[in-house]
Amino acid sequence: MFESVRVLDSREWTHHERTQQAASVRVSFLPLRLKKIPRFYCKQGAPKRLVRPSKVNQTTLFSSPDSTIEYSNDNLIAVSMTPQKPKLWLPERVVFTPAALDEAHGQRILKRVQDLNLPVEIEKNNRLTGLRGADERATYNRAKRTLAVVVAPPGQFKLQPIPPSADWQFHIAEGCPAHCQYCYLAGSLSGPPVVRAYANLDAILDNLARFEKPNAPTTYEASCYTDPLSLEHLTGSLSQAIRYFGTRQNGHLRWVSKFDAVEPLLGLEHNNQTRCRISLNAAPVSSRLEGGTASLSNRMNALRRLALPREQGGGAYPIGVVLAPIMAMENWESHYTQLLDDLHRVLDFPTDLTWELITHRFTPGSRDVLQSWYPKSSLDMSDEGRDIKRNKFGSEKYVYARETMKQMKGFFTREIMSRFPNSRILYWT
Ligand code: SF4
Repeated sequence: MFESVRVLDSREWTHHERTQQAASVRVSFLPLRLKKIPRFYCKQGAPKRLVRPSKVNQTTLFSSPDSTIEYSNDNLIAVSMTPQKPKLWLPERVVFTPAALDEAHGQRILKRVQDLNLPVEIEKNNRLTGLRGADERATYNRAKRTLAVVVAPPGQFKLQPIPPSADWQFHIAEGCPAHCQYCYLAGSLSGPPVVRAYANLDAILDNLARFEKPNAPTTYEASCYTDPLSLEHLTGSLSQAIRYFGTRQNGHLRWVSKFDAVEPLLGLEHNNQTRCRISLNAAPVSSRLEGGTASLSNRMNALRRLALPREQGGGAYPIGVVLAPIMAMENWESHYTQLLDDLHRVLDFPTDLTWELITHRFTPGSRDVLQSWYPKSSLDMSDEGRDIKRNKFGSEKYVYARETMKQMKGFFTREIMSRFPNSRILYWT
């Protein structure tokens, strides 16, 4: 995407910019951050070369059309010639219940994990054991390193609505291997945060048609309790769901991810019935709070590959960006401007693109869980600058104050539509 990357005088640096011709990029830092010595990694083939700041001025880093720029944190920029390898989670334990092994998909998952040489344990009965450690932190660590393959309980066959994201939610797994310090699952799932993949996938998919509206499109969200792409190399469940929806007239699949291993999805017969969304955020949020996920640049490249036409090696999918959670941090306009600029550069071809804009929020319950999981987190979950929103059942949620929300909504609507005039914003919340 870039023909060259040029680093200019540090005194001018406020944020990074580029020309529309994509001939050069100015990479920049807030001068304050220079107190911490920034390091620039220039990867022009192997090995990776460290460029000292004193030598960076007037340095031109030539790169290939596929190069990416990556922020690992606020004072580090890696310039790589090729996208990094996709992020693949490899659990330390894979536990199967006997009932899961009776299922055809359970056997398919067993074959995949055995091919990856992962250690397999089989429970004596259909209850998961050994998930807890000595304290909350140890339990978290143990559970997040475990993949459990189980049978989804009967309650999951009675689908629940999930506005505004989709008509219905269904689950191919529960739990996620990443470590986002704001994770919305903290308030939704109880018990140790183990990743459960469902072995009775065939029955789960067969059940969906019952909920389709007659003669009208019906949407199904598969990412309410998991990041389906994070598990795809271990389960193949997302591919199977995409193939299933490819055979439906009115059923549409929606999923979202912070991972990037999209290769297995590119050749599937999706028949435009699946919208693939990638969750993005401003660089400071992503680098500080989204542990274990794919880098921002890799996620953007994954989105590009999902949308590219087949003849250019892509998946030709309808795509979406989920900007979540949008945070009103210091200089938020400039950080999100940079993100939108980056994405505008990456999606430099016609796309069927939607947006979902979700501001940061938390409940008292999810705050307690997150603070026990991430006691040293820099995530601001104070009441300051927040309004309390109550739902009809009386439970409370902390959202940004009305004035901040109004300002942010105006900003995102304006900035998105100026860069992506043919895209659609589905909702702001
Ligand atoms: Fe939670 Fe999503 Fe992060 Fe996974 S990727 S930890 S589900 S916020």
